Amino acid sequence: MSKIRDSFLGFVVGDAFGVPYDGYQRHNLKKEKIGEMVGYKTHSEPAGSWSDDTSMTLATMDSVINNNGYDYEDIMKNFCCWYSNGEYTASGKLFDIGKITRTAILNYRSNENIKKCGQGKITDNGNGSLSRMLPVAVYTYYKSVSDEDTYEIVKNVSSLTHSHKIAILGCFIYVKFMQYIFSGKSIREAYEATVKYRHYVEYAGIRATNYYAKILSGKIDKVKQEDLSTSGFILDSLEAVFWVALNSRNYEESIINSVMLGRDADTTCALVGSITGFVYGNIPDRWTDKLLKKDYILEMIEKYEEVSMQ
Ligand SMILES: [Mg+2]
Repeated sequence: MSKIRDSFLGFVVGDAFGVPYDGYQRHNLKKEKIGEMVGYKTHSEPAGSWSDDTSMTLATMDSVINNNGYDYEDIMKNFCCWYSNGEYTASGKLFDIGKITRTAILNYRSNENIKKCGQGKITDNGNGSLSRMLPVAVYTYYKSVSDEDTYEIVKNVSSLTHSHKIAILGCFIYVKFMQYIFSGKSIREAYEATVKYRHYVEYAGIRATNYYAKILSGKIDKVKQEDLSTSGFILDSLEAVFWVALNSRNYEESIINSVMLGRDADTTCALVGSITGFVYGNIPDRWTDKLLKKDYILEMIEKYEEVSMQ
């Protein structure tokens, strides 16, 4: 069983596990009994329904498989198929989409220019591109892509929807960290290597780099839970992801800890799951078996890994 498969599966299972708790406030979660893959609650979706994070990840993977590489315009076309026709969804229809992503897709539909569809204001730094970066991390790791070229791919993929330097750098920090994880480092070692990495300023400038100061201080795991936010902003998401990953001992615990932070639960669960699925494995079968379109997902992962390893 490939560990990369467990990273993707950890991501999708995490997403589906978090969907019912999407938008919950932290204090309300204390009353909930969390441990099984359930449905409904926030959305009208049955257990095992994964959301936009997985749909956009699958749309990206499908494009890379079909083109044997990254064709940014083709990825955007797949996003349009997802938005308009419900392709790459768990049950044939889209049920959640971020505001910035929706605006970018509508822009592309009217101007057909991938350089001008993404949103680049300071207020546009949502986590919508971060939550579809796992395929980029896998591809650049397997192909031993240089850091400079990895940054370029991250920038182009993120900018389809989120083109501000803060969003791009957040995606790059996650991709760099995942490359260290795939190379066999522990979560702690990969985090330390990510903190020590010296080229963020060179790629993204001092302002964007300073934005991530708390993560790059090397002490994100020591932050108190009440000082973490899990809004839809990329910085909040990334801080929460590192915090949960560093403070959990196995996959199951990491997903439950992600839900307990509240708000954007499905995205936190998905990103944390991509890390702990790889490192610890043991994704509970009782959760995986509930995934909608499980075979379709496993097939996509297998094909993606093949293309990335070539
Ligand atoms: Mg979602």
